[in-house]
Amino acid sequence: MSRRRSEILAERGLAPVWRLRRPLLPRSEPAAVAKLQDGPVTAAANLPASGESRERSILAFDWPALRQRVEGCTDCRLRASCRQTVFGVGDERASWMLVGEAPGADEDRLGEPFVGQAGRLLDNMLAALGLSREADVYIANVLKCRPPGNRNPQPDEVAQCSPYLLRQIGLIQPKLIVAMGRFAAQTLLNTDASIASLRGRVHRYAGVPLVVTYHPAYLLRNLPDKAKTWIDLRFAARTIEKGS
Ligand code: URA
Repeated sequence: MSRRRSEILAERGLAPVWRLRRPLLPRSEPAAVAKLQDGPVTAAANLPASGESRERSILAFDWPALRQRVEGCTDCRLRASCRQTVFGVGDERASWMLVGEAPGADEDRLGEPFVGQAGRLLDNMLAALGLSREADVYIANVLKCRPPGNRNPQPDEVAQCSPYLLRQIGLIQPKLIVAMGRFAAQTLLNTDASIASLRGRVHRYAGVPLVVTYHPAYLLRNLPDKAKTWIDLRFAARTIEKGS
């Protein structure tokens, strides 16, 4: 574990960390993200700034090149106003991939997704499933930079950032994506349907099964809906077990 990560966990009162020696669920065959897995590119130099070739280049990156590209990204206005990019955190071979909206103030300060109050709730829910962001879970956001004042992401910002998430999915090959909240669900599924109407079904994103649940920050304001999220997460766990 990096020193930065140890500091973040210590600040949140979560250190020391105990690690599982093996995953909680056996990995099945790689998910249907083969088309995202073309040969790795190890240097992020000379990347075209926009358009299809930009996306093609990003979709060929390996982890270090992708991380470097995100860190140096100035392809939309958000990088000018945020403190740092927030790449993602967790097990790079995870079965579970959780996707939120965008970094907030705490994430912008610490460089890790879901580290504020909503993140603590998320960690507690994961723990109830026998999971943690250290083992078999990867957490990322649709946007890697904090929108100023936590305003809603703009369509062009989503368009520029989406290839990064797509490549993270291609590299991880999760068995399941959990879209947390209206923004992540509507963006990944390209719909304006409500969370309520999208819950309880298996959707697909980039060939990977996807389920929808409420955003942890919403749950902090609407405690009765925590029970619904628990139902969603158990549905997600069953979907992974079935390998659908
Ligand atoms: N909300 C999100 O959607 N993502 C974070 O990382 C933090 C809060």
